[in-house]
Amino acid sequence: MSERFSGYLDYNATAPVRPEVSAAISFALDYPGNPSSVHMSGREARSRVESAREEVARLVGVSPGGVVFTSGGTEANNLVLQNSARQNRHVFASAIEHDSILNVLPALQNGATLIPVGVEGLVDVDALAEQLGKNSGPALVSIMLANNETGVIQPVRQVAEIAKDHGAVVHCDAVQGLGKVAVSIADLGVDWLTISAHKFGGPQGIGALIVGDESETPTAMLFGGGQERGRRSGTENVPGIVGFDEAAKCVASIRDESQRVRALRDKLENEIQAAADGVVIVGETAPRLPNTSCIVMPGVPAETQVMSLDLEGVKVSAGAACSSGKVSASHVLKAMGLPDEQTGSAIRVSLGWASGAEDVDQFVAAWTKLRQRLDDRPAA
Ligand code: PLP
Repeated sequence: MSERFSGYLDYNATAPVRPEVSAAISFALDYPGNPSSVHMSGREARSRVESAREEVARLVGVSPGGVVFTSGGTEANNLVLQNSARQNRHVFASAIEHDSILNVLPALQNGATLIPVGVEGLVDVDALAEQLGKNSGPALVSIMLANNETGVIQPVRQVAEIAKDHGAVVHCDAVQGLGKVAVSIADLGVDWLTISAHKFGGPQGIGALIVGDESETPTAMLFGGGQERGRRSGTENVPGIVGFDEAAKCVASIRDESQRVRALRDKLENEIQAAADGVVIVGETAPRLPNTSCIVMPGVPAETQVMSLDLEGVKVSAGAACSSGKVSASHVLKAMGLPDEQTGSAIRVSLGWASGAEDVDQFVAAWTKLRQRLDDRPAA
C-alpha cells in the first residue's frame, strides 16, 4: 500500500481518497461545465451528475430521483431536522447521534427527546416505544446506522418498525455504515438516509440525502437557482459528485474488503489484549462495524495516547474528531455509562481500504511501547 497512508488508522474521521476517485476528479476538473448551461460543456457536466445519481441510487436501493446531493452528511442531517421543525414534528433521537444531529435539537421549536442507550451502546428500543407512546402529535425518529466512535451497529430496522407503529417518519444517519456494511433503504425500513462520500474513499464536501418516497422529500433549506429539483439550490459540486460516483462504484464492486478489514481489526485487538491487562474494547460484545475499535487504556488520558502514537507515525482519534482540535469527554461513552476513568482514556482506531498488516503491526508496536513506558514509571 502507498507510503502516504502508512500508519493512518483514522478512517472514521475521513478515508484516504481512492486512486480511481482522484483520477476521476482530476478528469472532471479538466473539463469545466455548469450542469445548468445549455451548451455542450454544460450538457456533459449534467450527464456526469446524472450518471453519478444513478450509481449512488443503485448503491442504496432507491430510484435516482431519490438522491439529493448535499455538501455532506452534516447538511443532509440538518435538512431532515430543519424540515421536521417546519412540519411541527417532535424529534426522537438517540443520545449517541453525531453532533450534526444533536446540536440541531435545542433549536427545534417542537421539541426533541433523547433516547438512552445501554452499556453495549445499543439504543434502548423499549424506552423509544414508551416515549413515542406518550407523544400525540407528528414525530420524526432519527437513528444512526453505526456509531462513529464505537462502531456499534444500531437495530435500525427494529427502531423503524416501532416508529412506524406510532405513525412517525424515520431518518437514518448512515454516514459511518456506507462502504463498511450493506446499506439499503428498503431493508432498513426508513424514509430518509444520510450518506457522505469522504467516509469511504470519496472526496470531502459531498454527500446526499436519500429519499425513499419522492413525494415525501424534505422542503429545501437552501434557496436559489432551483438545482436538485428545488430541493437544494446551488451550483452542483461536479468534481465532488464525480468522485462520489467513483467511490460508490468501488464499494459496489469490492466484495471482500470488509472481511479483510475485519481480520486486520480483530488481529489488532487480539494483539493488544494479549500484550497488556485491563484493556477494554468498548462495545466488544455488540454488533460492530468491521473496521472500528474503541480502545480504553485505563488511567491514561486519550490525548496522551494520541500524541504518543502520532510521534510513532500512527494516526488515530481520541473519541470524535472535533473541529477545534480539542478533545472533550465523549458524549457517546458517557451515554453508555462508562466510568469517568474510561471515558477520558478511549481512543478510536479505524481501518479501511488502504490499511494493511503493516499498519496494524505499527500500531501494536507503538501502543505496546507506550504501555510499557507507563508501566515502567516509578510509582508517585
Ligand atoms: N454523521 C456521522 C455519524 C458522522 O460520523 C459524520 C462525520 O464524522 C457526519 C454525520 C457528518 O458528515 P460530514 O463530515 O460529511 O459533514
